[in-house]
Amino acid sequence: MSGDLTRIHTGAPQNLTQRFAHRAAMMKPSEIRSLFAVASRPDIVSLAGGMPNLSAFPMEMMASVAQKLVAEHGQEALQYGSGQGHPKLREQICDVMALEGVRAHPDDVIVTTGSQQALDLISRIFIDPGDVVLVEAPSYVGALGTFSQYEAQVVHVAMDNDGLIPQALREAIETTRAAGRKIKFLYLIPNYQNPAGVLLSPDRRTEILEICRKAEIFVVEDNPYGLLGFDKPSPNAMRAEDSENVIYLGSFSKTIAPGFRVGWALVPQSLKEKLVIASESSILCPSNFTQLAISSYLSDQPWRDQIASFTKLYKDRRDAMLESLDQHFPKGATWTKPGGGFYVWVTLPPEIDTKALMPKAIVAKVAYVPGTAFYADGFGSWSMRLSYCYPSPERIREGIKSLGAVIANEMTLRGIN
Ligand code: PMP
Repeated sequence: MSGDLTRIHTGAPQNLTQRFAHRAAMMKPSEIRSLFAVASRPDIVSLAGGMPNLSAFPMEMMASVAQKLVAEHGQEALQYGSGQGHPKLREQICDVMALEGVRAHPDDVIVTTGSQQALDLISRIFIDPGDVVLVEAPSYVGALGTFSQYEAQVVHVAMDNDGLIPQALREAIETTRAAGRKIKFLYLIPNYQNPAGVLLSPDRRTEILEICRKAEIFVVEDNPYGLLGFDKPSPNAMRAEDSENVIYLGSFSKTIAPGFRVGWALVPQSLKEKLVIASESSILCPSNFTQLAISSYLSDQPWRDQIASFTKLYKDRRDAMLESLDQHFPKGATWTKPGGGFYVWVTLPPEIDTKALMPKAIVAKVAYVPGTAFYADGFGSWSMRLSYCYPSPERIREGIKSLGAVIANEMTLRGIN
């Protein structure tokens, strides 16, 4: 009977979990995922998730794009397609990347199911157990999860308000190599970083590329937020400066909508074939339907104006968050001031454990992500990520006010002024 959710068991019980492959032991749920159940309660102001805000998305227009696609090109849109991705979309992706100075050939673009799949493919192709991947400190939780599933050793490299610090990178390379470890690549998010919200300065981009070339380490540049700058365009992508030593990852999740699951990797020519083979083994081909929906949207709709209206929406929310942080967070807390993207990174006095503080925040009806989620090594216990992308400015103000009071109380309790 439909709607009856009772489980019906047949056959003798089997303990299949005991038969997992070794690599399954490395698969752990992310801290963020386990937070979602609580954070998505309607009475809680969630500053936890990084979901794009679709309230400004032109739903009816997209409905007519999809309708027309099936009616007029259904035979192609609903069929299997190329493992590398649809040729027309790959050309359009090159136009999108040109906005950030990247000159690319569509043959070097591989369309993926979100850029998350590209992270998985790169890890699968390059990481042997024990290999080192260098990442920013802190870094994107989804990338950390992928790297550790492939049994990489993640080494964090310090950053400041201008992004990854080149000298810290030199030192990390030296120490790691002195310990006899093999470094495979540097993974970084140069624009409006997740979770820190900072932008890597143009000078540092050049310097980091030089360091990596010299050290024979390639760069994975993950750039889902680059077109979401609030006041000025972001600097040119690192891939614009070096087409041979950079793998560039892009995504339509934040500039169009994440439900399409369309992202891409732009790779040096020599890597393309392996990536396509690896991708075919996991998905056969990316969805023709969503690729063509995006392709029609890009060719027929004012997508740049649409990005501008998303950006305006996020800027209003960023302003609400920064203003209320100024008003309501106690002295001793510091935070980044993002010029784009979704996130603010807050640092508290080291005595405050943001994970332990979470239940008190939930009682005060506000949620965030504790800083340790963004480190592979347990660091970050006195920091937190706040996302301003989703709630309304009023709710953001409410949430920051409550959270400020929770933190101030905790500081008083611990005798911190
Ligand atoms: N990289 C970064 C830095 C992200 O923040 C995200 C999503 N939050 C992704 C990659 C994955 O995005 P998608 O798979 O939707 O393209």
